[in-house]
Amino acid sequence: MDDRDVSVREAGPRDGIQIINGFMPTAAKTAWIAAEAACGVREIEVTSFVPAKVIAQFADADAVAAAALAVPGLLASALVPNLRGAERAVAAGVRKINFVMSVSRTHNLNNVRREREESVADFRRIVAMARALPEERRPLLVGGLSTALGCSFEGRVAVDEVRRFAGLLAEAGAQEIVVADTVGYGDPALVRAVFGAVASEVGPVPLAAHFHDTRGTGLANVAAALECGVRAFDSSLAGLGGCPFAPGATGNIVTEDLCFMLESMGLRTGIDLEALLAVRRQVAEALPGVPVQGALARAGLPRGFRGAADRALAA
Ligand code: ZN
Repeated sequence: MDDRDVSVREAGPRDGIQIINGFMPTAAKTAWIAAEAACGVREIEVTSFVPAKVIAQFADADAVAAAALAVPGLLASALVPNLRGAERAVAAGVRKINFVMSVSRTHNLNNVRREREESVADFRRIVAMARALPEERRPLLVGGLSTALGCSFEGRVAVDEVRRFAGLLAEAGAQEIVVADTVGYGDPALVRAVFGAVASEVGPVPLAAHFHDTRGTGLANVAAALECGVRAFDSSLAGLGGCPFAPGATGNIVTEDLCFMLESMGLRTGIDLEALLAVRRQVAEALPGVPVQGALARAGLPRGFRGAADRALAA
């Protein structure tokens, strides 16, 4: 690994399908995960350990996690909103746990029904629980900050608030901090300000970016985060996601478009783009009626396109 290696983490099986209408069959989810891993995607957020009565789509979290953990070479992570979710994830054998809280107080109250300080306290309990486990069962713990670049309830979110909560999660024991633009309010200047502030606060803890392309700034925000030294990005195949009740809303940045941009810039993702486009077709067929996004699928790869690794060999 050097700074030309970038980790593209597929979030579609969690973020992309959490609010679509209808239940995606468990077999379709696990086929998607295995197929995308076979393209060279090394990390996938495979599910969310939330109560089924909150999000019915994740009623099969245990089965999906079990299947994903059996995929060779794949790091299967799972989202958890609280200690109970983390306990379920550990029981399922998950090795990377993405804890998430909102920087926006209103969003946190709506999403997980507690004050932000209570969420930080819950993360401390998760760290204590994990540290009490034998080393071979101890998961990596990620501290995720949603609505870090804006909130649909509160509008602008202060950079100092993002810095403060990133510091609290890092101090509590987060081994990675994910800064998330949950509703696609970010722009490259704001990305530089937020990631710069967070990096100076958390020191050696690695940062990852989670952008949504709701207002068309997603890949520009990736370019800005790259300039800040970020080398890990969440994305969703076909840009799946977005709220069916909010016309025009979209999901995460599009995995295949992100990989294309990175590889074109000479940054190595290790992902086979042609194979990824085939998996995109497979997933779109498994989700009839669900809107898909993506420029690369529409336009195709440029004539003579070579990925970063191929070009380095030829140089
Ligand atoms: Zn998201």
